[in-house]
Amino acid sequence: MRARARRGILVLASLALALLAAVVTRAKGEPLEGDGVRVLVGSALEADGTLRSGSPARRGESPLADHAFDVAADLVRRGASRPVASVVVHAAPALAPGVVLHGATTHEASAELLVHDDAVAATVVAHELAHVSVLARRRGPRPSSASARRVLAALDEGVADYAAFVVTGEVTLGDPSLGPTRDLDHPPAPSSATWAEHLVPAGLDRRHELGWRLASGLRRARGRSTDVRDDVLAAAAPAGGESMIAVLASFVDAVPTRSRDVVRSAVREWVPAEVPIK
Ligand SMILES: [Zn+2]
Repeated sequence: MRARARRGILVLASLALALLAAVVTRAKGEPLEGDGVRVLVGSALEADGTLRSGSPARRGESPLADHAFDVAADLVRRGASRPVASVVVHAAPALAPGVVLHGATTHEASAELLVHDDAVAATVVAHELAHVSVLARRRGPRPSSASARRVLAALDEGVADYAAFVVTGEVTLGDPSLGPTRDLDHPPAPSSATWAEHLVPAGLDRRHELGWRLASGLRRARGRSTDVRDDVLAAAAPAGGESMIAVLASFVDAVPTRSRDVVRSAVREWVPAEVPIK
């Protein structure tokens, strides 16, 4: 009886897999659209940052477009872009002279994805989809002070890295062909000097290094938690604040109660000891 039940489950599982494969596989020539993702080709990014949209890509037209669709659609199905219902991906957009982009990036004004690499890693796309999620929830203007904007940028990177880890289960984020990867097991040592450098408006932009540490702290505290992921994504567009303390306090306050204490502790560990986070 148990063997028969097991066989039944196996048959059901293979049927479900076949169904999934039928949904996922797109025939050559079909538009790369569905599962919450639309891929465009022939788009262009102008020198002033304006993004001109190209036309719908079709399966088989470009390996890069096919790969971008497959990776993004898989991640969107796994909740990587919540609450955004559909994501637009520009495959290999033409770049204005002097604009250099690698891998995948988020076009902030449109909250759409630009993919430049024909084998971009899923962790990179998952990280960008988290930026899209945060942008979708952003209300009101960003802080006007340069240092508050830089704090927000580092926070965005930390939240995006943690979300990418939760969605993919990968501890090492980034793509080795694009530059150094970020291993959440081995974040860079905490350093007030990094914060000091990052907060100077004309100083080195250390947002990714700082974000790496925050993501690592959240992972240490809660592991792969979809609750914490959803809660930090929901809070990462804080309502206000023109100082480091105000931006981070407003972020912690916006985190839903179930995760607030764990996030507050991670933020306290993240910032230099002289920055009091209540
Ligand atoms: Zn990022």
